Amino acid sequence: MTISGENQQTAIVPQDASVAFQALSGAFKAIGDAGSQELVPQSLLLQAMALLGAVGGVIFDRRAGVRAKPVDGVVPERLMADARAWEGLAGDPRSYDGPGEPWVALHFPLRQGEEVAIIMQFPVGQVPSQERLSALSLMASHAQARSMYLAATQQMEVAKLEAKSAHEQQVEMALRLYDLYEEAQNQAITDGLTGLATHDFFQQRLAQEVRESFRYNRPLTFMIFDLDHFKNINDTYGHQAGDLVLKGAAALLQEKVRASDLVARYGGEEFAVILPHTTEDDGYALAERLRKDLEAMEWPVSSERNIRVTASIGLASRGENDGSSKDLIKRADVALYAAKNGGRNRVMRAAGPAVEAVSAIGSVRQGSQEMFYGLARAFSAAIEARIPMMAGHSEATGEFARRMGAAMGLAEDKQEALYIAGLLHDVGMMGVPESVIFKPTSLDDTDWGKMKDHPAAGVGILARFSTFSGLLEAVLYHHERYDGKGYPEGLKGNGIPMGARILAICDSYDAMIRGDYAYGVGIAPGAARAEVERCSGSQFDPELVKLFLGVLSETAPVEA
Ligand code: GH3
Ligand code: MG
Ligand code: MG
Repeated sequence: MTISGENQQTAIVPQDASVAFQALSGAFKAIGDAGSQELVPQSLLLQAMALLGAVGGVIFDRRAGVRAKPVDGVVPERLMADARAWEGLAGDPRSYDGPGEPWVALHFPLRQGEEVAIIMQFPVGQVPSQERLSALSLMASHAQARSMYLAATQQMEVAKLEAKSAHEQQVEMALRLYDLYEEAQNQAITDGLTGLATHDFFQQRLAQEVRESFRYNRPLTFMIFDLDHFKNINDTYGHQAGDLVLKGAAALLQEKVRASDLVARYGGEEFAVILPHTTEDDGYALAERLRKDLEAMEWPVSSERNIRVTASIGLASRGENDGSSKDLIKRADVALYAAKNGGRNRVMRAAGPAVEAVSAIGSVRQGSQEMFYGLARAFSAAIEARIPMMAGHSEATGEFARRMGAAMGLAEDKQEALYIAGLLHDVGMMGVPESVIFKPTSLDDTDWGKMKDHPAAGVGILARFSTFSGLLEAVLYHHERYDGKGYPEGLKGNGIPMGARILAICDSYDAMIRGDYAYGVGIAPGAARAEVERCSGSQFDPELVKLFLGVLSETAPVEA
């Protein structure tokens, strides 16, 4: 490990480095200990600034806002707004080269879901080196590292330090930071049981891989690998047997991937595999191999017999519309969900955002258009046979969705896919008990609970036909609301897949004029139109509402 000459030039020598260094170790702890609404003492910020040689700063919390008031200088509103939108970049310093002085932001999670940032301003040309910033940020990120940091600072011989020149102090401090950084990094990146990368490390790495795959326009594939019915193994053969299987599965994954891939322990019995430079098809082939290899293994969990274990895998490739690694994870998660619902021990590819999903369908149906439509119509007929009051609803929803696609300028095959999604969106109603569907009185909370299972039940049915894989997200999320109050997951705004946002409007409008469980007897088109408009921004995507109103006025004259 060396400290480069460049470091020595750009790092700033604090007036009293050892004191600042010690105070800062307390600062991180104090911020962590303070309730999230409390202001933390400004002196802590001053110490952090002194350590790094900053001239201005603020401690900021994405949820609670300012935690320590700004010192010396006004933090630009643009930067504060940006800080509020930060996601998943813990430990990753960000620089802002605005028209004024350069600003650097360090941010780190204190507890689950709580992210605090220290934003500091430096004189031009005196931003500390990336290593020092990373070291600081990383230490703050991990409680473990934080206590190591405290222990190390206590061991420091302050007297010896003080006898040294400012320059020596600085070098010593940087060395120590760097040692701690390396130590902390090794501790935080390895899972104790399996030796795989940890969840935190995986998250940082995936975010980085997503950025690079955009920058260099390279493919990137990612999978979540979840052991099937793992709880049963623990329950039947004990935790040690479970651990044995976990270690073995981890070893299998590690052995079968390339050195440039990353295998991580994503959760208890879930693994994540990042495959840089890998197309979805190649990723799929690997996932299938892993699935089969695992299935073929025998596990000596008891003296009487060996058992077999299987896994379900959700696979997603980075698409043009994935804003961040979170989008990619979400899509792989949905695919995993579909794999579980489809019977487990299988690999499912993620549906892309609507447009991508649709192009997948376009190619699938080429060889067998008749079968594709036949299957979709058969499903929709089956729902209507079971629930006569829904006659015509799926067809009409599909028709509206197709016209939305046309208004958006989508190619014809994509419009058709939206039509099919409409035709199939309620297929999960097949799984709702008759006692609920035909209940003569109004539905109570338990009934509604069963009713609300229908999007997931729909995915459970459709996931069995690879032909429909591109539609699963639209079906699963067609009851999400733009304001986040929908179901099944409470997704919000643009976090709801486009196909589902389109279906939500088409489905609701048709249900209003036709009458259904939620809306009761049908209302006049003019009133339904007004209701859709009223719910713009709360229930529905406002941009899509505008589009929908355009579609309506284009084709059917609105009643007075
Ligand atoms: P599914 O097929 O739906 O994934 O079923 P499952 O039983 O695998 O899923 P569930 O998420 O309900 O259960 C996961 C279990 O994994 C529960 C938990 O006790 C077990 N588990 C998590 N971490 C460990 C671990 O470190 N060791 C052992 N032995 N078991 C673990
Ligand atoms: Mg699980
Ligand atoms: Mg499992």
